[in-house]
Amino acid sequence: RAKEEGRGAYRFYEQEMNARMQARRTFEHDLRRAIARQELFVVYQPQVDSTTGRFDGAEALVRWNHPDQGIVSPAAFIPLAEDLGLIGAVGEFVLRKACTDAMTWPSHMTVSVNLSPMQLRDQRLAARVACILAETGLSGARLELELTENALLQDDGRTIAMLHALRALGIRISMDDFGTGYSSISYLRRFPFDKIKIDQSFVRQLPEDGESTAIVRAIATLGQQLGMTVTAEGVETDAQRRFVSASGCGQLQGFLFSKPVTASDVRAMFDADALPTSAVA
Ligand code: C2E
Ligand code: MG
Ligand code: MG
Ligand code: MG
Repeated sequence: RAKEEGRGAYRFYEQEMNARMQARRTFEHDLRRAIARQELFVVYQPQVDSTTGRFDGAEALVRWNHPDQGIVSPAAFIPLAEDLGLIGAVGEFVLRKACTDAMTWPSHMTVSVNLSPMQLRDQRLAARVACILAETGLSGARLELELTENALLQDDGRTIAMLHALRALGIRISMDDFGTGYSSISYLRRFPFDKIKIDQSFVRQLPEDGESTAIVRAIATLGQQLGMTVTAEGVETDAQRRFVSASGCGQLQGFLFSKPVTASDVRAMFDADALPTSAVA
């Protein structure tokens, strides 16, 4: 009897596994077609200059409008795109769209694009980015590329050469999610970064948490001393805004200012913000 129950449980488990594997295969199949079917799209989260309080750029964030599941977040499909060898195509789509959209913004606005580790390992990356800049007409000085620490784990020599090739195009390189990896500080010395983005997990605890306040102040000071811009991510409250601004973060990003919005909305926000004060009144 126990044996039978065991078998039943096993059969149930097997069915469950099969169902899950089937769902994953369908999802993979869907993702392979997502680009061609134009289901991927890009939203933009505005960034604010902490000194002037005005927008100075936006981060491009990809989304997937799945036919049955609705909007799928990048956390749910970027890793799969990497496994399936689709990240090159996804990354190129986002870059081209971001550069095209940024061309319609006031000319002092920058656009930041997240890069996967696998994109950075592709030796043709700099040439591809150069092509997209030429194609869209965007100046390299208006493009930033964001990397997380896990992009830097392999092959220092090649990575450094690639980052220099990208910087030679005028592009700025940001270290995303700073402070969450194992050796964030040593990477700042080994790789040519222009900007540090303090991870939202530190900002979220501000201004009450003693450790987070110390860490955010220290990162902001470190960045300033190294001549880098420091961006605070995940700013949600006015108290957080005041704290990170006073600590020396030059750029702010978070729901307090705006959630990620569509290309046409970000353009309207930038146009409105760029108007001289007299024209607004
Ligand atoms: P990230 O680059 O660190 O982007 C910031 C994430 O934090 C975004 O989530 C954004 O919507 C969210 N966020 C911004 N402000 C706030 C806030 O005030 N509070 C909270 N709670 N969250 C905030 P999203 O769009 O879901 O992206 C998640 C991650 O997916 C990104 O983290 C990035 O690592 C990755 N990602 C997004 N787009 C791309 C892409 O085109 N290519 C690659 N390779 N990765 C991407
Ligand atoms: Mg980012
Ligand atoms: Mg981040
Ligand atoms: Mg992140």
